[in-house]
Amino acid sequence: MHLIKALLLCSSFCFYCSAGAQDYFDYQSTTPCDPRVVKAMMPYWTTEFGNPHASHAFGERAAFAVSEARQKIARILGGKTTEWIFTSGATEANVLAICGVMHAAPQNKKHLIVCATEHKSVLETCKSLVRRGYVLTILPVNQDGSLSLDLLKQSIRPETMLVSIMVANNEIGVILPIACVAEICHKHGVLLHTDATQAIGNIPVSVSSLGADLISFSGHKIYGPKGIGALYVASHVKIRPLLYGGLQEKGLRAGTVPVPLCIGLAKALEIAEEMRPQEARRLAFLQGIFLQRLQRLKGWRLNGCPNQRLPNNVNISIDGVDSSDLLMSLPDFALSTGSACSSEAHFSHVLAALDPDNIMPPTVLRISFGRGTTEAAVYRLADRLIEVVQTLRITKPAGGKRICKTTKGKIRS
Ligand SMILES: *Cc1c(COP(=O)(O)O)cnc(C)c1O
Repeated sequence: MHLIKALLLCSSFCFYCSAGAQDYFDYQSTTPCDPRVVKAMMPYWTTEFGNPHASHAFGERAAFAVSEARQKIARILGGKTTEWIFTSGATEANVLAICGVMHAAPQNKKHLIVCATEHKSVLETCKSLVRRGYVLTILPVNQDGSLSLDLLKQSIRPETMLVSIMVANNEIGVILPIACVAEICHKHGVLLHTDATQAIGNIPVSVSSLGADLISFSGHKIYGPKGIGALYVASHVKIRPLLYGGLQEKGLRAGTVPVPLCIGLAKALEIAEEMRPQEARRLAFLQGIFLQRLQRLKGWRLNGCPNQRLPNNVNISIDGVDSSDLLMSLPDFALSTGSACSSEAHFSHVLAALDPDNIMPPTVLRISFGRGTTEAAVYRLADRLIEVVQTLRITKPAGGKRICKTTKGKIRS
């Protein structure tokens, strides 16, 4: 209890960035759990430990708390309370949406469409379906990571059951026009699933504004706990479960509902939505000053279109330096790297999709800002990055010999 109190006392100024000596710039990979979320979860780890599926008082209290959390999610994001299913995270929500819908589809509806820059949990799930006889179209993206709606229209066939396209990309921050995608899908009688994991808390998101039939998101990307997420399944969607063995979550997900995590997810969403207008403006400001400062360096480009973009993401290609050399020279910062070269450890299918013909992919850095990011830290990173790149280009120049093959930007079916 003392620990929690101490945590809460200093929460207003330090908890988001207090861990370790590094400045954290990897908020798109995960976020710390907000102490207000931890506090809301506390009783449900200890005294309120009942199994929400049990019919005694302990169980009823837990069930009531879970139903309140579900109501809160529906109130904030829209949809009916009964249309929200708790999962172990966005990965499971994505897999449940895609496999669940395809397994329930009629015999003549075995085709699905995704975008080349989707999260791996979407892409790999679809590829596993191809091995079981389903037909997949992977839509290429434009060089700035945007989507051609005409190409989407052309790809829809009479056999198409489902389209899965994300709201905002986790590597390049590009925001896709999901409402337009939904309109196209519905005009052709096709269901739409969208992964809204990176969008929630950064841009306005709701069931009605997206128009999707299935929507995934995750707790740990919005300052909530790890191991919990949710899937919106519109009541008209026919879907099969992944997990069998119990009638929990309307039979769609067997297993005891993790009560504290459900409470934490709803609380995190509530806080994220409350903070969003102001926080998104602040993050966009930090993004702006970072890119402005970087003008002092030559030989780099911003990946992903500059205006349809999350406020917390910067993704840049830097010429003339090797990515592991670069990361090793920046030990004071927690950053994420990516490469479009499939032979490299940091291979990114997203960057490869932006420029499929490039035989000399540059070094790529993803920098993501969050609640703990200060203006001072942003300048610190920008200045150190400029210094390190300029030094490495002289001492350990890279580029010119790294030729690699990536997949071509054709529609693959
Ligand atoms: C992080 C992330 C996921 C996976 O979420 P988990 O809850 O960790 O399974 C899925 N999609 C996107 C876009 C993400 O950023």
